[in-house]
Amino acid sequence: MKIVIIGASHGGLQAAVTLRKLNPQTEVILIEKRSEISFISSGIVLKMNQLVDELDDVRYFSLEELRKKGINVLLNAAVTKINSEEKMITYQNTHNKKYEMNYEKLILATGSNQFSTNLTLPSKEKVTVFKNYPSSVEVLEKLEKAKSISIVGGGYIGVELCDALKGKGKEIHLIESADSVLFRYVGKELSALIEQKIKDSGVKLHLNESVIGFSNIEEETFITNTTNEAIENEYVIVAVNARPDTTLVKDFLDLNANGTIRVNEHMQTSNPDIYALGDVISYPVSNSYRKSFIPLVNNVVRSATVAAMNALGHSMNYNKTQKTTATKIFGCYVSSTGLTEVEAKFEGMDVESVFLTLPCQLPYLQIKEDVHIKMVFEKGTHKLIGGQLMSEKDITQSINTLSLAINKETTLEELVSMDFYFNPGINHPMGVISRAAYEFLIEKLKE
Ligand SMILES: Cc1cc2nc3c(=O)[nH]c(=O)nc-3n(C[C@H](O)[C@H](O)[C@H](O)COP(=O)(O)OP(=O)(O)OC[C@H]3O[C@@H](n4cnc5c(N)ncnc54)[C@H](O)[C@@H]3O)c2cc1C
Repeated sequence: MKIVIIGASHGGLQAAVTLRKLNPQTEVILIEKRSEISFISSGIVLKMNQLVDELDDVRYFSLEELRKKGINVLLNAAVTKINSEEKMITYQNTHNKKYEMNYEKLILATGSNQFSTNLTLPSKEKVTVFKNYPSSVEVLEKLEKAKSISIVGGGYIGVELCDALKGKGKEIHLIESADSVLFRYVGKELSALIEQKIKDSGVKLHLNESVIGFSNIEEETFITNTTNEAIENEYVIVAVNARPDTTLVKDFLDLNANGTIRVNEHMQTSNPDIYALGDVISYPVSNSYRKSFIPLVNNVVRSATVAAMNALGHSMNYNKTQKTTATKIFGCYVSSTGLTEVEAKFEGMDVESVFLTLPCQLPYLQIKEDVHIKMVFEKGTHKLIGGQLMSEKDITQSINTLSLAINKETTLEELVSMDFYFNPGINHPMGVISRAAYEFLIEKLKE
């Protein structure tokens, strides 16, 4: 079997490796338009936080490793055309020389690009986005030099950047059009705690403000105009709205209304010999009626595994996503899974929630760490819909427990009586999840 994969980032790589593991006889050709592979987009943050020595280290596969696995990797090869009837692709090198290649199965892993739908970026030198290695090298250099920086978008990327840039003698502005940061992931209670940490760090936070344009762009210090004010800055990072890259296939494959490629639970497109995965597709979300565009690596690698399995004839369905995330910002671990209360209401669900601050350890220990926990339940069924955690102690694995609980439709009562470990030197009896569920249930039942 000859399988061609377009795109050698998280999704393409996972599919290629899985295909070769499943059947070493499979001919796997991985085609990538860039000159390098496997860079992790948040490398800038890791470098600024001194977790890695070099930006170039932030990769999980080298070309040599892939080639040792028998994967044929073509770099600087941009696919320009797919002829699905003849099962042929055309690609070109950097000198515009064209080549053709046939396939038996094709896997689309062309991912997403970052751009804002309503904002024209005036100059890449001064206002930019970053995702791949070359753009990250450029951005890192500019971030180090600039004395005043505006970051547009208060999602994970924007907040992580603020954290990495704080305390370096720079004036940092974080501009978010919504009324809270990380609103796609956490409710108002955790947002408020995070916003306070952002402000305490000296970052100037602008909520409820949209960027409408830029002026004096030719000056070293130019203006970012928001709906409320004119902010002086030397450099702007736009960390908003990724969009699926479907350029190659939008004319012959079925697309969803949000512009992603339509796939079934096997990641098969409207053409049975073409699979799609990663950031070019939408995902079924637990407790949601619609599939959504959720550009997260956890979805990418799972959909890639499913696509590879099915391309080789092993039937495997994609499980739902709870869009589980975690980060470390301003000295705290913040994690989330499932729907926020606002999202659940948008889905037409009648929900109730509990927000508590609980001690991680028993009182006799000198270490005193708290965890903020929020859980959202459906009224009536008491089914868990969403969960959010924030703590100085790393308890991020607990968010995976909550993700599993949501996926398996676990109820409030089941969480109270669930078996979780206790160790007197580490945690509290019941642990934070059962404990929060217990306090909420008692509150509901008490006379
Ligand atoms: C700054 C930043 C930080 C992020 N941090 C996180 C994080 O902490 N956790 C998380 O879960 N997610 C994170 N994400 C999201 C994550 O990076 C994406 O979900 C992921 O990269 C998508 O992987 P993918 O393989 O589907 O596509 P992409 O990574 O978008 O890669 C697609 C590949 O296809 C290639 N390609 C496209 N068209 C062609 C063509 N015609 N011919 C040949 N090659 C082509 C591209 O060059 C590219 O290499 C972050 C994103 C950004 C921008």
